[in-house]
Amino acid sequence: MVGGYAGRYLEVDLTQGSATTAPTDMAVAKNLIGGLNYAVHLLWQRTRPGIDPLSPENLLVFATGPITGLPGTERGSVVYKSPLTGLIGHAEVGGHWCSELKFAGYDGIVITGRADKPAYLYIKDDAVEVRSAAHLWGKTTSQTEQAVVKDVGDPFARVLCIGPAGENLSREACIVHTSWHAAARTGSGCVMGSKKLKAVAIRGTKGFPRMEDPDKCFELIDGAIANARSEELMHEGHYRLTKMGSQASQVERADEARGIFKNFDEGDHPDVVNIGGPRQLRRNRVRDDACFMCPVGCMHSSVVRSGVFAGTWGQPDWDSTANLTQQCLMLDMDGLIYLNALCDEYGIDAEGVGNTVAWAMECYERGVLTKSDLDGLELVWGDVSAEAKLIWKIIHREGVGNLLADGFKHFLPRVGKGSEKFAMQSKGCGFGGYQPWSYRETYAINNVGGHHNVDSPRSNLADSMTYCLFLGALRPKGFREGLEYYGALFNAATGWEFKYPEGFDLIGKRGVLLGRAYNIREGYGGVMPPSEADVYPEKAHSRVLTYGTAKGKAYPREVFLADRANYYKSMGCDERGVPLRETLKSLGLDFAIRDLEKVGAWDQ
Ligand code: SF4
Repeated sequence: MVGGYAGRYLEVDLTQGSATTAPTDMAVAKNLIGGLNYAVHLLWQRTRPGIDPLSPENLLVFATGPITGLPGTERGSVVYKSPLTGLIGHAEVGGHWCSELKFAGYDGIVITGRADKPAYLYIKDDAVEVRSAAHLWGKTTSQTEQAVVKDVGDPFARVLCIGPAGENLSREACIVHTSWHAAARTGSGCVMGSKKLKAVAIRGTKGFPRMEDPDKCFELIDGAIANARSEELMHEGHYRLTKMGSQASQVERADEARGIFKNFDEGDHPDVVNIGGPRQLRRNRVRDDACFMCPVGCMHSSVVRSGVFAGTWGQPDWDSTANLTQQCLMLDMDGLIYLNALCDEYGIDAEGVGNTVAWAMECYERGVLTKSDLDGLELVWGDVSAEAKLIWKIIHREGVGNLLADGFKHFLPRVGKGSEKFAMQSKGCGFGGYQPWSYRETYAINNVGGHHNVDSPRSNLADSMTYCLFLGALRPKGFREGLEYYGALFNAATGWEFKYPEGFDLIGKRGVLLGRAYNIREGYGGVMPPSEADVYPEKAHSRVLTYGTAKGKAYPREVFLADRANYYKSMGCDERGVPLRETLKSLGLDFAIRDLEKVGAWDQ
């Protein structure tokens, strides 16, 4: 077996209630590494085009990479066809679960079918059981984890699960691990709920697989850890992550005019300090935390100490809270912790649902939605109580929440009345916490829709090797960038000799284009060609920011079109966003050509 890989995938068929193993395909792994890319390849090979994402045919793949389980690499990918967008569904999760999966002797899990009654999966090394989850259905994510750990009788079992949002098939539902690590965006929890799978508990005792050159691996790791607190890396972000976590970004992004206040109307706001990292640090932080063997630790558990939300506890970070706060103009720290905890406990994507609420607030202000459309809610900007009530309805599919739980792509045509103009989304997935002018073409061209991660070869590599993007700069002294370190670690673990950087960049490009090809095969959300889906809503172009540092910033349509054309060219696509046949051939993606010809991808 190639070093670093466990060498097998666990295959669970929930319809049959059976579990088997299959060898990891090392030829595929050599081309695509693992994690995101390996899982997308499985989805391509094992599902027919056009499946319903909520059907038993959909796959739910959990995938690690060959260095998952080493310091800074506690990540794994969750991949499926998305019920939110109809395209590739992808979420990353940190914490402790992915390393545990590796230590149990698996590179990943492929889940198919649908259980006839609520079930959970318990994996202890080679022993796999599909157990009844009847007593867990309806529980929140923290209640579920506690109950499962008690059930299996092992305090070291690691659990990920869905909450009520996933059970109710909210298309924004996510999968949650240890109460706050969320595999969010694009409806992973909805797919898990459609399979009636409440939780997956794992205990692995086999340790990290054999490494090809363990001495070299440990020399690299020791060097990276020793350098993690160096002045150089502290300046590159480790200090602020250790001290305040990504919540530091609340104020930093506003200072850079990149905030998303009032549904992206403004990039900066005078009251942003109220929700910033320094305030959370002084006022609410109770404990620091980290993913498995992370040398930085960006997690800061926080509690509300007084007022109506007193006692609420959670671990908010920037990516999950910017949409709940800035975008809805809810600039209160206690409200931030409360809304973030509400989303984590009930298992709904805070970014996605924050986008939906902000859209509804703008529609309400403009008279597009009325009080009676919103079940009597006065949905005014900044009202934390109204925001929480609408999120609750979306989680439980109550009243108007039943409509909004289906996500932008499904509910905008039903709402009509020009409401799509205010939906800050691409392909059905709401934008992350950055102004479009600063993220350029990213939200539009991303394979999963308006995700804040850049769909570039470099971010693809992080998600396929499975290292944390917050640790993207981690490296021993003398290394130029994080990828040089992770690439060397990958080579030492596997014994493969990929050249840095070009060998790795090629894999990243291959992965991004495989995702793009999958979306084209699936009809690009019902729109062909891709360039008709790789777009922004008009508001992203027409809005000129007016306040503070953001004054005058804009992202005009013609600038976007030039950026998008450059991206297509750099990725070897034609002007409609379709990868050229010769590009796919040169990347070894020949198998995609046949399927794309069938859907007429190159027919003008
Ligand atoms: S930087 Fe934060 S998210 Fe990344 S591995 Fe460390 S603790 Fe986890």
